Parts: sequence; structure tokens; C-alpha cells
Amino acid sequence: MQIGGPSGGCLITKDLDVKLDFDSLKKLGAMIGSGGLVVMDENTCMVEVARFFMNFTQNESCGKCVPCREGTRRMLEILEDIVAGKGTLEQLDILQELGEAITDTALCGLGKSAALPVLSTLKNFREEYLDHVVNKRCRTGNCQALRRYVIDPSKCKGCSKCARNCPVSAITGKVKEPFTIDATKCIKCGACMDNCPFGAIHTES
Ligand code: SF4
Ligand code: SF4
Ligand code: SF4
Repeated sequence: MQIGGPSGGCLITKDLDVKLDFDSLKKLGAMIGSGGLVVMDENTCMVEVARFFMNFTQNESCGKCVPCREGTRRMLEILEDIVAGKGTLEQLDILQELGEAITDTALCGLGKSAALPVLSTLKNFREEYLDHVVNKRCRTGNCQALRRYVIDPSKCKGCSKCARNCPVSAITGKVKEPFTIDATKCIKCGACMDNCPFGAIHTES
């Protein structure tokens, strides 16, 4: 549950009986903020949630002080790398360090709370970050760059429509036999799945 608006922290099930007051939420890395409350389930990628909110607050930064102006931009770049499957373990440490530094040194409330969604998800959903960075996998399938398009040979009729619609010629096969996708060429556009008349293509995360 994300509480406090775009720069609020993300809590997990064991925290949900917390008192709804300033000090109690602060101890958990969250805040009452604007009073916003977003409830999410296991179908939501928490890394993408952190990227989404960092993008929002980065846009709102007025640019007056360096920690917020530059720090949030660097954090956003790292989060964009991670959801694109280009993140590294070192970047997770930098994300943590930057988040703490911005919280401590930004001039106003916006900057002081901007890193909360990232810091709280790094704490409570670290395994999701590791999955993206180490296994290049998004377990929810939300991160498009980490999806894998696969043809189910038992459903494929070998009509070749997917291959004709693939913009990078990543699909090959003989007519009337199951086709296959070369994952190294695939740019994850989804055109094959949209065009298969037999529902033979699905994504794996
Ligand atoms: S912390 Fe406040 S003053 Fe500093 S850049 Fe961000 S919005 Fe502006
Ligand atoms: S469009 Fe569907 S059925 Fe036709 S070749 Fe591609 S995967 Fe097979
Ligand atoms: S997702 Fe796009 S690029 Fe990848 S195999 Fe399908 S049509 Fe080709």
C-alpha cells in the first residue's frame, strides 16, 4: 500500500495496522502527505511503481537546490535502466545512497520526500529489484522490456502471419509447422501476438 501521495512510502501487509499519525508512519518510511492511498497486489511491479512516482516528482522539482534537481534526475535514470533490463547491483547501492542524501539535504518538503517511494520499495521489495537486475526478469510482466514472447507449438498452425508482421524478422518457420521466435532479435513490440489468429503467442516474464 502506497500512502501519502506521489512521494509517499510503500508499506507491506505486516505494517497495515500502523496508527495513522505522523510519527508512526515516519518510523516506517511513509507519511500521511496528501492523504492519497493506493492499494496494489502481486500483479503490480513495485520497481515500476518507484519509477513512476520518481518521474512525477522529478517533473515537479523546481530546480532551486542541487540535491533535488540533480539527484532526482539521476535516480530516475537508474530506475529507467532497471525497468529496461539494464540495471546493475552497483546501481541499487547508488540509488539507496542518493535517496538518503536527497532526503537529508533537499531544501523543501518536495525534495525531502521525493525518494520515499524508492527507499521504501528498496527496503520492502528488494527481491523484485534483484529479479530485474540479476535475473533480468519482471515477475509481474509489467516491464515490457523484460517480457519474452513465446509461440506455443501445440497451438501454432504455421500460418506465418506473425512472421509477416514482425518488423525485425525475428520469427521463422515452415508453413503448416510451428514457428519460433528468436529472442535475441525480438524488440518486444507485440505485433505477432496481436496478429496471431490462433492465440498461439503469449508472454513470459
Ligand atoms: S527540494 Fe524544493 S527547492 Fe529544492 S529543487 Fe526540489 S522543489 Fe525545488
Ligand atoms: S500467427 Fe500464430 S498460428 Fe500463425 S505461424 Fe504465427 S504463431 Fe503460428
Ligand atoms: S514481439 Fe514484435 S519483434 Fe518480437 S517477435 Fe513479435 S513481432 Fe517480432
